Amino acid sequence: MSNLTSTIRGDYPLNTFEIVRDLWQQMAKIICDRSSSTCGGEVRLVTNAQLQCHPESAISDSDTLAVISLQNSPQFSLLQSDSFQALLTGTLIERDNSQQIAIEISFEPTSIDEFIQPLLDYLPSTVGLIADPNFTNNCELQSCFTQLLLNAIVKSNSPTVSMCSERELHLQAQVEQANLLNNIITQIYQTLDLSVILQATVERVQTFLRADRLIIYQFDFGAEGLGDARVARPCRRDFTTYTGTGRVAYESLGAAELDSVLNITEHQDCFDDPQLWQRYREGMSRAIDRVDLEYAKNECMLELMARSQIKSKLVVPIVVKSELWGLAIAHQCHSSRHWQPRETQFLQQVAEHLALAIDRTELYNDSLWHTQDLEQRVSERTQDLRDAVIVAQTANQSKTEFLALLSHELRTPLTSILGLSATLLRLPLLNLTERQQHYIQIINNSGEHLSELIDDILDFYKLEFGKTFLKVSEFSLAKSIEQIVEVVKPKAEIRKINLEVQIIKDGSELTQDDGRDLRFCGDPQRVRQILLNILTNAIKFTPAHGTVLVRAWSEDGYAVLEVEDSGIGIESEQIPRLFKKFHQLNHNFDRDFGGMGLGLAITQQLVELHGGSIEVDSIVGSGSTFTVRLATQPLQVSDRNDWQAMGQTLVFQDPELNPVPNRIVLLEQDEEIANFLCDILTAARYQVTWLLSAESSFRQIAMFEPDLLIIDLALDAQTVDRSIGNIRKSSTIGEVEILALATKDDIISPISKQYVDDYLWKPINPEQLLRKITKLLSD
Ligand code: ADP
Repeated sequence: MSNLTSTIRGDYPLNTFEIVRDLWQQMAKIICDRSSSTCGGEVRLVTNAQLQCHPESAISDSDTLAVISLQNSPQFSLLQSDSFQALLTGTLIERDNSQQIAIEISFEPTSIDEFIQPLLDYLPSTVGLIADPNFTNNCELQSCFTQLLLNAIVKSNSPTVSMCSERELHLQAQVEQANLLNNIITQIYQTLDLSVILQATVERVQTFLRADRLIIYQFDFGAEGLGDARVARPCRRDFTTYTGTGRVAYESLGAAELDSVLNITEHQDCFDDPQLWQRYREGMSRAIDRVDLEYAKNECMLELMARSQIKSKLVVPIVVKSELWGLAIAHQCHSSRHWQPRETQFLQQVAEHLALAIDRTELYNDSLWHTQDLEQRVSERTQDLRDAVIVAQTANQSKTEFLALLSHELRTPLTSILGLSATLLRLPLLNLTERQQHYIQIINNSGEHLSELIDDILDFYKLEFGKTFLKVSEFSLAKSIEQIVEVVKPKAEIRKINLEVQIIKDGSELTQDDGRDLRFCGDPQRVRQILLNILTNAIKFTPAHGTVLVRAWSEDGYAVLEVEDSGIGIESEQIPRLFKKFHQLNHNFDRDFGGMGLGLAITQQLVELHGGSIEVDSIVGSGSTFTVRLATQPLQVSDRNDWQAMGQTLVFQDPELNPVPNRIVLLEQDEEIANFLCDILTAARYQVTWLLSAESSFRQIAMFEPDLLIIDLALDAQTVDRSIGNIRKSSTIGEVEILALATKDDIISPISKQYVDDYLWKPINPEQLLRKITKLLSD
């Protein structure tokens, strides 16, 4: 930014100097406040008083005279900060037999520099004065200061000033100019709308300069650079693409009869000075009093001037960040005009402030563009993510559908495999050879194994999708452990593994004779599943004649289950991988025993559902210890019809001992399942009638007077509800127990919940089926 050089001079009554010096103090305070909030710079205020306090011995010979003359004659006050400096001097004079003071206020860097030079040696360096002939004043501060100063001088000197009208006019013009500049600055900082700022400025400046026309010529840096392109990507000025053309973008006319030049483009061919633009860029202004003389040899320009009725013009550049943005031009059209230096200076000041405003607006537009660009990108990304979520949800949906399919389609034939093979094994009349029995046993075992694998996959995905909830009740942990030990005992016996249980309470082991018990609140089925998984592994990975020990105790609201084996052990670096899904360690045992590497992944999830943890301690070749800690769960209100709450301790009665042949109606649409059930039930000496639907055979059911109705919930929900409802309400059918066949994924309707007495989960286990039927019919 160029310096706003200026000097104000005048003769005033003696008290004026004091007033102005007070102002100097105030100004020092203003600068001090601004500096401390912005750059932390300091303010230096030096006056004659300081000179008189310092020894002359410090003065160099060459400067002695200058300083002595300073001490003796004028009063001065020098104000200097990092961004602003001003010098006030006052000299006593005799005028009209009275004493006055000649005041001079200078912002001129060279004259201030000259003034400071002799002082530097004289004043201690701590004063911090800087002599710099190129010092640049902050224009805003200088305008503000000038305005304050002139107001103060004019107010304090009204009588004297009135005697000197030329000086008064000059001062008034300066005050007006400072005021206008102030208003323009204020407006610039009030809005970010560049077109509003520029239009208002041309109007005010045109009025103030009493110019016939005031325009802003904006250079063309590509289409986007013109006007106030606020939403498009802001265009950075690039002189490599600069053509020197542009257009009149803003205009204010002083008289109605003048032609508008708005949007007119000056053809660069007319300009015969190739360096013109570069000089404008360096800050050159041009005051042309008579265009006819200036362009006497340039026909093109003369024609251009005549077309716009221009007789005189004042041109100042608007330079934004060292680049030529445009020109502020005052036109005189009715007559030629001699432009005053102060008018040029004023237009320069205005142009400098406009440059600041343009820069600020461009920065703002830039940040706005970036914000909008960011918003746009965020919204695109959000859309991408939304699409991805939809894809994922669809995939998830397919996975769920696949699992439902897996559950129904695999379990249905599996039910037949398991059921029919179990039936064959149970029918003594068949007289099977040992070999045939062995094959059927293999079929049955493989079916069981397949069923366990399907259970594992379904369990795992349900846990993964958060579809598993705990069904909390208080139960005996000791009994659960015993039940699971009973389940795995046959396998342990085959492998000749010693299986031991220790229930510990208050530090000592409880024996079975004590009626050992350890109560715990959690999901009993899930706790049994956890223990079963770990115990099965322990037996699997312990060689013959080894030992597997189950220990349980409770501490601080946790139940602790510990399974210790003397098996093959696990390498320590493998331990963190144990709980990863589908992960098996690579040893022969895995191949021997099958499995999918899901057991421990499921176990860990079930443990976490209980707010617990699982830890492994192992030595290769010596054995492993799995320690599970399960947090006591708050009790939930259990559903009366919930399948888990039912049929807990059924006493199995051998169907061959079934004394009275009860009648059973089977409502089943799947022929395979129906055949299977009929075989088992007939073998167990029940009288069975198989119907495809209840609705069409209502009379038949009534005539048959069944003791039990078995209904498959795989029928569509409405049919099931209607059938069950009608049978329950029918007076002709009488008391009948209802057993529903379902998969664990089936949604049980409220009607079913209300009327069904018990549920049997697929794949149907014949033993369980018969046990449930016996229980229902004996109640
Ligand atoms: P899977 O369901 O196939 O048995 P798990 O997740 O239950 O898989 O176990 C993962 C692997 O961890 C097993 O294949 C086995 O290699 C190892 N493992 C689990 N328990 C033991 C144990 N008590 N001793 C040695 N290795 C074990």
